[in-house]
Amino acid sequence: MLKHNLGYPRIGVRRELKKACEAYWSNKINSHTLFQVGKNIRKENWKIQEKAGLDLIPCNDFSFYDHVLDMSLLLGVIPESYLSIPVIHNNIDLYFSMARGFQKNEWDIKAMEMTKWFNTNYHYIVPEFSKNHKFSIFSNKIFDELEESKKVLKSIQKIKPVLIGPISYLFLGKEKEKSFHRMDLVENIIPIYIKIIKKLKDEGVNWIQLDEPILVLDMSEKDKKVFKYAYGEISKFCSGINIMLTSYFDGISENISLLQEISVQALHIDLVEDSNQLEKILSFFSKKSKMILSLGLIDGRNIWKNNYAYSINKIEKSIEMIGENRIMIAPNCSLLHVPIDIEYENSIPINIKNRMSFARQKIYELNDLEKIVKGDKSVLLNNIDLLEKSSYIFYDQKIRERANQIKDQDIKRDNPFYIRQEKQKKKFNLPLFPTTTIGSFPQTKEIRNLRKRFRNNELSRDKYDEKIKNFIIDVIQKQEEIDLDVLVHGEFERTDMVEYFSNKLKGILSTENGWVQSYGSRCVKPPIIYGDVTRIEDMTVKWICFAQSKTKKLMKGMLTGPVTILQWSFVRDDQPISHTAYQIAWAIREEVLSLEKNGIQIIQIDEPAIREGLPLKKKDFKSYFDWAIKAFRLSSSGVKDETQIHTHMCYSEFNDIFEHIANMDADVITIETSRSKMELLKAFSIFSYPNEIGPGVYDIHSPRIPTVEEIFDLIEKASKRLPIKNIWINPDCGLKTRKWKEVLQSLHNMTKAAKIARNKFINLS
Ligand code: GLN
Ligand code: ZN
Repeated sequence: MLKHNLGYPRIGVRRELKKACEAYWSNKINSHTLFQVGKNIRKENWKIQEKAGLDLIPCNDFSFYDHVLDMSLLLGVIPESYLSIPVIHNNIDLYFSMARGFQKNEWDIKAMEMTKWFNTNYHYIVPEFSKNHKFSIFSNKIFDELEESKKVLKSIQKIKPVLIGPISYLFLGKEKEKSFHRMDLVENIIPIYIKIIKKLKDEGVNWIQLDEPILVLDMSEKDKKVFKYAYGEISKFCSGINIMLTSYFDGISENISLLQEISVQALHIDLVEDSNQLEKILSFFSKKSKMILSLGLIDGRNIWKNNYAYSINKIEKSIEMIGENRIMIAPNCSLLHVPIDIEYENSIPINIKNRMSFARQKIYELNDLEKIVKGDKSVLLNNIDLLEKSSYIFYDQKIRERANQIKDQDIKRDNPFYIRQEKQKKKFNLPLFPTTTIGSFPQTKEIRNLRKRFRNNELSRDKYDEKIKNFIIDVIQKQEEIDLDVLVHGEFERTDMVEYFSNKLKGILSTENGWVQSYGSRCVKPPIIYGDVTRIEDMTVKWICFAQSKTKKLMKGMLTGPVTILQWSFVRDDQPISHTAYQIAWAIREEVLSLEKNGIQIIQIDEPAIREGLPLKKKDFKSYFDWAIKAFRLSSSGVKDETQIHTHMCYSEFNDIFEHIANMDADVITIETSRSKMELLKAFSIFSYPNEIGPGVYDIHSPRIPTVEEIFDLIEKASKRLPIKNIWINPDCGLKTRKWKEVLQSLHNMTKAAKIARNKFINLS
């Protein structure tokens, strides 16, 4: 039974890679120094895994920015525009310009598109294919790293180069022009994969890992056809080297028949996300005489210690069916998605920390499992004992009961939307096309510094509060000058929309150093939901009420919704995720009610992450929406008819899930649309959205200032698809990353356009 790993975090335990990349980008270090940092990280990673006793250690899992972009460089998938920048002389600058764009002198070339890696928070750079693309081996990275790993590990037998498999790679890309299907490039790409594999074999490599996460999706007939073709070719031409096909993030039962006709030496399956698939896979394996099965048992997407009894059960079942020689054990997916080392955490209470495990600890868990299989029962007993002792770290019977007993009336407003709308219109007396923003305003250095000083106890609470209040007063004044209708307080007290709430809720903790790569040099530190979640005190009321007291206009209260808090955190694994969602939802509901009690009449509950929680397979959509929407409704339905609930969504395509969004029954939704030039509105020809809606009228992700005319044009377009009385006018997301100058001008143009539209449409409403 071999132990192996699919990938190790590459940012460095002190985020060395982030710091080095950013220093390189701003010309503070040269490429030699940058490469040295990469080299040190790789060496340390390999050494850690060697020391932990892994039999197969990944290589080429390192990346300076993104492993999909690495594949594009390896295979020569480089859009012409980057290749033709004459001042770029080396691969690393070409690589970074694809990732980040190239702006210098007369050049202004945009970055390549970035999108989410399956249902994780990691973003990859989308490969861009043109018709008849000629693939070639362009970069030497994988071979260089192989050479390096040979020196560090001294035994080629242990090294397993990792590549994204050809079918997933094609699948993850997009066509530059519409005249072809990227999957048809399979015949062009396979010869290059074969060349790479042969070259690795010539270097002495025994095992390679081809990641094919496409296997866990609903594959089309075409996907299946090209998959069979690709692996047929690879096995025909690549003898003498072992290929491990890896799947992760879900099960592959539906696609197992694909493996009937191809011959690879090993298959890796994810038993964390789908443990039920084991039986089916084993019965398939019992008919194949040689293929090895790699069991993905250690959770590479969460930070809890493995439940050994559970894993051993899977291992034993597998041994019984196909024999120990045909089994390997591993994490379910690359450890890229978890922080590196729990030993760097000093403030987590020991009883919680004991139950946690980051990447380095997870590697050692494989060792423990091996010991147990070999007969060392004490390791198993210790694990059982530990999990039992710490299973109820923070346990509150009342919270649990409340989350288990949600009544119909808890998730329903008193009256249907049309009645609420009438009451709200009467009470607020807002103009046609009311204008508002999404919540945050520019977060300047001054504000970030202020928060930092307060965090480090360099500033008293009173001083800090006073300064924040001044920022609020200022932002209110600015909004009044711009003549917005519904104002916000600006969110200056928040570093991050999830962190702010998780710091205030009981049952959630933050780490000091638990960084995870989100994209390129950007890392996030997800909070950890370790116990029953509850609200101990008001979280936002003080600031929102202060803001309301400073204006006669309506002030919008601003909260983060339960699904988003859950989605951007590490979630406890000892109860269904829906139960955790309901606990958070109750806490947010209490905050909503407290705002209402204190006179706030409009409350926004942001749910930007609702779409990204969506499961990978269609068959699982319904059960996801069932609990996610219930959680949102639980958080928002406690208020009176006259209190207006807003929600906000962004970062995703929403066209195909609009019916579900409507089910959330928010009175108003503000939503990202402007980047796709109101693409969203097309969805309304198919499905008429029943409540009020603010389709974002300009793109806040760009510094460009929209003109009055173009905003007016978008309002007009929206008016053709939606009832005029339901339309709000707003930017498409929060303004915190923008500069004040841009914001003031853009919002000014926005209110101006709204006024023109009002005059024009007033008689039609
Ligand atoms: N209210 C938040 C803000 O404006 C929303 C952030 C988001 O949509 N991601 O910053
Ligand atoms: Zn947003």
